Amino acid sequence: MVKIYLKVYFGGRLIDKNSANLSIASSAVLYGLSVYTVFPVFVTENGRLAAFRLKEHFNRLQESAKIIGIDGFNGEWDFEKFTDAAAKLIKENEIKEDVFVRASVHVDEQLPGTRSRGLSTALSMFAYEALPILPQNGARLKTSVWRRVPDFSIPSRAKVNGAYVNSVLAKQDAIDSGYDDCIFLDTNGHVCELSAANIFIVKGGRLITPDTASDLLEGINRRTVVTLASEAGLETEERVVDLTELYIADEVFACGTSAFIAPIIEVDARKVADGKPGLVTTKIKKLHEDALRGSNKEHANWLTFI
Ligand code: PMP
Repeated sequence: MVKIYLKVYFGGRLIDKNSANLSIASSAVLYGLSVYTVFPVFVTENGRLAAFRLKEHFNRLQESAKIIGIDGFNGEWDFEKFTDAAAKLIKENEIKEDVFVRASVHVDEQLPGTRSRGLSTALSMFAYEALPILPQNGARLKTSVWRRVPDFSIPSRAKVNGAYVNSVLAKQDAIDSGYDDCIFLDTNGHVCELSAANIFIVKGGRLITPDTASDLLEGINRRTVVTLASEAGLETEERVVDLTELYIADEVFACGTSAFIAPIIEVDARKVADGKPGLVTTKIKKLHEDALRGSNKEHANWLTFI
């Protein structure tokens, strides 16, 4: 069981996690009508805790709410209030180690029917042990029998709880088949992402990743990797990606808050190159870790000290 810290932020204050309850009649429970993000709060090189790219997480949360039409949140919350809530959560729990914080905006109105506007919302935040969702020394992926829900059905750039049934189906299918995670394809058979991480290929010294119109979540770490790679002299092509490009790639890796940078060593029973984490992936992993820990002074503004 993953450790969840006792004090949680809910309904404007910190309370014990067992007292933070949503009604069984709320839209959050009935329709999965909540939007969320997960951000890391890590111990930096100087021993202080810092949230990574918190502003981008807050912006994406607001954008998710806007896309879905959850209009109660955006007027009530701003970045300063959000940062304060996160800081209170970390301090009250006396957290001294790496954690992930899940922040969700729930539509907690009871039985409003299938609509989103003008309804009451509640923000929750809880902190938990920062365990990776993928093996960090080589993960194995299987193409999912389930296709990624397209943008014209449930927009993937909105991080909305209900849409994650799609990810659960695909990840469970992969696990049932003995793999670590899935590769989601879109309705045309092009590569989107994993169940909860973005994907990159390395081919001929260049990075390739599905573009943002490829039915994927616009990951904050995806954007971070493109920036860090470019600074290291590696350009990224963002375009439509075929599944078979993964089979013949020099390297493949996944990235995300909870995936970190995870080398992919096998796809659909085919080894990626020699089946070992590659040099570019290892380099990107190190650059990402340095950014998270505050060793990269160029990007000190990515950290919000708590
Ligand atoms: N895709 C999906 C479907 C996800 O759930 C996540 C995790 N939030 C990601 C990609 C990676 O996004 P990020 O880098 O912002 O964590």
